[in-house]
Amino acid sequence: MSALQGLMQDHPLMISSLLEYAARYHGDREIVTLTGPGRRHRYNYADSAARARRLAKALQALGVEPGDRIATLAWNNYRHFELFYGVSGIGAVLHTVNPRLFEDQIRYILRHAEDRFVFLEPDFVPLMEKLAPDLPAVKGWFVLCEEPEMPDTALPGAQSYETLIGGHAPEFDWPVFDENTASSMCYTSGTTGDPKGVLYSHRSTVLHALASAQNSAFGLSAEDAVMPMANMYHASAWALPYICPMVGAKLVLSGRHADGPTLHDLITTEQVTFASGVPTVWTMLFQHLDATGGTLDSLNKVLIGGSAAPQSMIDRFRDRYGVQVLHIWGMTETSPLGVVSTPTPRVNALPRQDRDAILIKQGRAQYGIELKITDEAGNELPHDGQSSGALWVRGPWVARAYYGREDEPLLDADGWFPTGDVATIDPYGYMKITDRTKDVIKSGGEWISSVDVENHAMSHPDVQMAAVIGVYHPKWEERPLLVVVPRPGRTVEPESILKHLEGRITRWWMPDAVVVRDSLPLTATGKVSKLTLRDEYRDYLVDR
Ligand code: ADP
Repeated sequence: MSALQGLMQDHPLMISSLLEYAARYHGDREIVTLTGPGRRHRYNYADSAARARRLAKALQALGVEPGDRIATLAWNNYRHFELFYGVSGIGAVLHTVNPRLFEDQIRYILRHAEDRFVFLEPDFVPLMEKLAPDLPAVKGWFVLCEEPEMPDTALPGAQSYETLIGGHAPEFDWPVFDENTASSMCYTSGTTGDPKGVLYSHRSTVLHALASAQNSAFGLSAEDAVMPMANMYHASAWALPYICPMVGAKLVLSGRHADGPTLHDLITTEQVTFASGVPTVWTMLFQHLDATGGTLDSLNKVLIGGSAAPQSMIDRFRDRYGVQVLHIWGMTETSPLGVVSTPTPRVNALPRQDRDAILIKQGRAQYGIELKITDEAGNELPHDGQSSGALWVRGPWVARAYYGREDEPLLDADGWFPTGDVATIDPYGYMKITDRTKDVIKSGGEWISSVDVENHAMSHPDVQMAAVIGVYHPKWEERPLLVVVPRPGRTVEPESILKHLEGRITRWWMPDAVVVRDSLPLTATGKVSKLTLRDEYRDYLVDR
């Protein structure tokens, strides 16, 4: 006997509906892009939707078919935003490529995805000229500029974006199709092996945007002005280009600029209420504020993720600028939202210190995401805030396979995705990342949490950045080595840091040595590259 069917309308969840909603009900809300020093492009959701429709028609006229991959090498700007909708809206797949990856990785990714057309900023024309002979699947190149700004290029048949869309009228009925159709793709940065393609769907994208917008997560509304400082090519700028039209928030896009003065100027002049980015972005902003004494009056919330937000950063945002930090954890494979550190009444009722200790964690699961932690034998561990183990997630916006590797088993028998992170989950439901599996420090068979040690090191007044890595030790297998960068104009002595750590961390977690240097190597996604550090300092404790 078949179950009784509900009698509600069956509307597939379509990405195009987000922008059409914004055009209709928040048509005058602005999208502002910093296009160059002192230059801003301003238009609104109604203008943007009209141009996305023209783009959709232009793509169809080029012969783009549903399922075709269309690559972008682009910064955070209004044309890239139009591509998010124009490409996915016709059933093609928007493939956002991280232009900061190594050339070999970019070549690999474009070949693997077999992109048919490439949309690129003028800055990346030389790179693509070099790679073009290796990319036989590419049938056309579109440079994100006006016709007069077109660079001289050997890219065959290259055209400006404005010429491409210029010949088409803005009337277009978006097609409606199966909501499980692929909409966009993003490759992980390949810190372990070849980059892997995560392939999102219309359904996963819309559900993820709905969940992320909620008060229990980002808490966004039409009253917000949002500046994503995560890149649109990295997990879709944490989905803000989808969430903002959904709620009618103003969108402020910083182009290719991510320096402290630019950030501060945009926040102040565009009255930004909500900004997002990895910790290194905020470190740059703080440096600028230190130098100028500037304030952040309009800003209410800052979303920090990608790597752990240090307590000192959270405290400074709250105490000096009245800004609430929302710590988030996620990955390309989770669209990216997994957990957010919004409080609950139970947590709010705790004494200040206990409350802070919970809210510095990466956060609590949102509706739609399930979490579990397991020991090395695969047994589930209790959510007691102490037991730490491999973190697994499950939900409708979590990857089940990688593009082109559909046959490789990725999930466990119950459909859980292995995140590669190590975490604890406390009785309040808050998850805390203690490490990445590949960064774990195992000393005498016991795990040391590099994240905890880094956090305390960064609370030293003269320390700007800190990274802890495991290096070879003849007796203990591995011991922690702490690498620090002093704040500008300050010097730090290793002894003073070790003294600062005393009493803050367990004695056997104490780093065996502290190295002071001017900067830390970063990955293409702006995180500290521990791989590079481990290579460099592998024998540091032996050689001494
Ligand atoms: P990659 O860093 O390899 O490019 P992602 O950008 O998808 O990949 O990053 C996902 C990883 O980033 C997570 O698995 C986790 O290790 C780390 N991460 C993300 N957010 C946080 C956070 N708030 N605290 C600590 N680590 C985080």
